[in-house]
Amino acid sequence: MTPEARVEVAPLGTTLPVRPPVSMAMPMGDMIPYVTDTPDITIPANLLPADGRFGSGPSKVRPEAVAALAGAASRYLGTSHRQQTVKSVVGSLRSGLRDLFSLPGDYEVMLGNGGTTCFWDAATFGLIETKSQHLSFGEFSSKFAKAAADAPHLSDPDIVTSEAGTHPDAVARDDVDLYALTHNETSTGVMMPVTRPAGAAPPDQGGGLVAVDATSGAGGLRVDPSQFDVYYFAPQKCFGSDGGLWVALLSPAAQERIARIGASGRWVPAFLDLAIALDNSKLDQTYNTPALATLFLFDDQVRWMNEQGGMAFSTGRCDRSAELLYSWAEASSFATPFVTRPADRSRVVGTIDFDPSIDATVVAKVLRANGIVDTEPYRKLGRNQLRIAMFPTIDPEDVAALCGCINHVVGALG
Ligand SMILES: *Cc1c(COP(=O)(O)O)cnc(C)c1O
Repeated sequence: MTPEARVEVAPLGTTLPVRPPVSMAMPMGDMIPYVTDTPDITIPANLLPADGRFGSGPSKVRPEAVAALAGAASRYLGTSHRQQTVKSVVGSLRSGLRDLFSLPGDYEVMLGNGGTTCFWDAATFGLIETKSQHLSFGEFSSKFAKAAADAPHLSDPDIVTSEAGTHPDAVARDDVDLYALTHNETSTGVMMPVTRPAGAAPPDQGGGLVAVDATSGAGGLRVDPSQFDVYYFAPQKCFGSDGGLWVALLSPAAQERIARIGASGRWVPAFLDLAIALDNSKLDQTYNTPALATLFLFDDQVRWMNEQGGMAFSTGRCDRSAELLYSWAEASSFATPFVTRPADRSRVVGTIDFDPSIDATVVAKVLRANGIVDTEPYRKLGRNQLRIAMFPTIDPEDVAALCGCINHVVGALG
């Protein structure tokens, strides 16, 4: 019997019967697929991580940050974002990011609503002058490339691709005015160094800007501000907050580009206008109403990172988690790191392939049933693997515990 055939439509006015507990609903020989494909395996409590959130975004939010938000709620939530209470959080966030990334004094911290996906559209209007080059090596990096290709006011972009599980390198070209890099390709678990393309002129001598999608890398991977002009991200990954906001760290050359395009007469929807966003950011506000809880959690996380030792602390935690995860997989008889080159293996999002004899989907479901969530792989990659976030918030001890839990589940699946 298919699951659909079981659906009964209750006549109006009747109360739907409560479904009996799974154990009662599942007599042998009358298996229901959506119940039976999660084997009943209980992971011993002493193996479980303290926190079971390993999703690559939205990702674990520190309970201390949530408690701080609850404590501040009656003075902060539901108050005007044009008044000092909220503006001081935005101001603290902007200066905290400046410290965390050791930004030179002439760099700016810009923010706006809509998340990274919105920033791609804004960039096609306000950062790309005529032609961009995109390193396309997974779902996220390909999306910005598509946004640029679809923009009628731009020339066709130059798209450099490589196999899933690897990254291409930028190629200096005279006709390219923006190089689009991705610090960490979240769909495949590949990281790449942020460096200006070999042989490219610096932007103040006519070379292209370097714009980096660091949505999942920012705060967890090391970066040198002299190597980028735009480093943009959203707070729901390493910054343990919620989605819906974008942030961009801007070099002087990027600020000039925004001003020049802003004055050029190009039509730009106001919501996507980076000149407007930059003006508002300098006043510690956003063009339209932001999510106040998101801003608070984001600021709390940046403060936490800075207090604990800044980028050395946050990247160090990711390094340790990655060392634990990949060394476990390399020693395992059934798991292997998906990314072949160790230098390309992301320290913030790990992808682990499973032997064909083990169905990783089932492993993820058993983990989920035991409170360990969001280890499923990126769907479109279509591999028999788990994807595990190792953002700074995630305790390396919990990554080690997760490896132990996977061993237990695979053993129990026999
Ligand atoms: C999550 C992610 C995005 C999308 O971010 P949104 O804020 O949901 O638009 C883009 N790029 C990368 C690398 C990501 O990891």
